[in-house]
This record gives sequence, C-alpha cells and structure tokens, in this order.
Amino acid sequence: MKGKIVIDKQLCKGCKYCVMSCPKGVIAIEKQFNKMGYFTAHPEHMGKCTGCALCAQMCPELAIEVWAENSRKKKA
Ligand code: SF4
Ligand code: SF4
Repeated sequence: MKGKIVIDKQLCKGCKYCVMSCPKGVIAIEKQFNKMGYFTAHPEHMGKCTGCALCAQMCPELAIEVWAENSRKKKA
C-alpha cells in the first residue's frame, strides 16, 4: 500500500515525534527554521510511505494529514 502525508508547516513545532515514530524513515527535519523559529518536519522519502498513520497519531499539534492510495480516503 502506498501512502502520502501532508505536513502543515504553520502547525508543526519540530518536536520530531513523527520522525521517531515512522517505521519507514519517511520524515526528516528541515535544516532551516521557519518564520516562527521552528525546524519543521517534511516528508523527505515520500515514496516509502505506507499510509500507516503512526506519524499523525503521534503528532501533538495535529499537523499531519495521511492519505492511503488504495482507499483514496484521508486516514488521519
Ligand atoms: S503514514 Fe506511516 S509510513 Fe507514512 S510517513 Fe507516517 S508513519 Fe511513516
Ligand atoms: S510530530 Fe507534528 S509537530 Fe512534531 S515535528 Fe512532527 S509534524 Fe511537527
């Protein structure tokens, strides 16, 4: 199953919970900070995403949307 995530840069606080929770190593932290001063997360290896939604479940800011390709439905 292929998945896709969308991270809201305005909500992300750079806590890295999503990075640590992803079993596929999809997510990385930006090297430059945003306007708010946070080093935000981004899906560096989107092709590995399975749509499991673990990252979204761990995110305290509700900044991650997860989509599963086979269902064409938003999972989280
Ligand atoms: S949905 Fe699963 S595989 Fe995809 S980025 Fe999140 S934790 Fe990783
Ligand atoms: S868990 Fe949420 S707030 Fe924390 S780095 Fe990931 S997207 Fe940003």
